[in-house]
Amino acid sequence: MHNLARAITTDGGVICVAINSTSIAARSETIHATSAVVSAGLGRLLTAASMMGSMMKEESHTVTLRINGGGDVGSLIAVADGRANVRGYPTNPVVELPLNAHGKLDVAGAVGKDGFLAVIKDVGLDEPMSGYSPIVSGEIAEDITYYYATSEQIPTVCSLGVLVAPDLRVQAAGGFLIQLLPGAEESTITRIEQNIEAMPAISTLIDGGATPMDVIKACLDGFDFDILDTRQADYVCNCSRDRVEKALISLGAEELLVMADDQETTEVSCHFCPKKYRFSSEELKLLAKSQKSSL
Ligand SMILES: [Zn+2]
Repeated sequence: MHNLARAITTDGGVICVAINSTSIAARSETIHATSAVVSAGLGRLLTAASMMGSMMKEESHTVTLRINGGGDVGSLIAVADGRANVRGYPTNPVVELPLNAHGKLDVAGAVGKDGFLAVIKDVGLDEPMSGYSPIVSGEIAEDITYYYATSEQIPTVCSLGVLVAPDLRVQAAGGFLIQLLPGAEESTITRIEQNIEAMPAISTLIDGGATPMDVIKACLDGFDFDILDTRQADYVCNCSRDRVEKALISLGAEELLVMADDQETTEVSCHFCPKKYRFSSEELKLLAKSQKSSL
């Protein structure tokens, strides 16, 4: 079973990644109980992050995408690892907006256009690498394309789509990412542009049963290519009590003691999944102690 595939043209000029992210966007909708436009916006960002994760060199590497354009949704955040597993959350899960001029969910309206897309890559160095690019559309796919062009100087085509059913269920979601490697010829670019123009919207393709391989074939029509790899990408949260304890310790002993005095039990909710972690006053005091002793 796989829902993500990567291919490279035999001349080595073009890489193409495609994903059926329906289960990922559906899981996100269930966890966060998002309104339709937020399901679409966060679903698109998760789809992009998963594909970008699939291009990391090590499974332990991570890429975080954060977009905030001053719109009602606040920030949308997605984190993927090198296996292409992904998790995310919106600041505000429920935003209601009328459909846009094209009769589509108004993702750009919810995200806003006054702000940045941040891409933070953690590849095991002392400091993660961060790149920022101004939001050009707020529809997310164009913003990813613009990020690659300006921050990484990689000519990229990105398409992302989430189809939300009238009952708010995610019906289909998917995406593709095409990158031109250095030395790609003008004729290659022209052919890929023609291929993409001839394709229906990615969410329509996936809804109609297209596999990631079908999407790659359509994107790379006219080229010889090899499949690099296939994999199953899922919505996965890696939170644990241990990680939550570390996050609490990072608040500092004073803050922990205030929390311990404030209430008998402190509940910490994971941003990415429905898990809740409970700490008694005694446990918080012990964490405060361990923070002091580690200084
Ligand atoms: Zn979690």
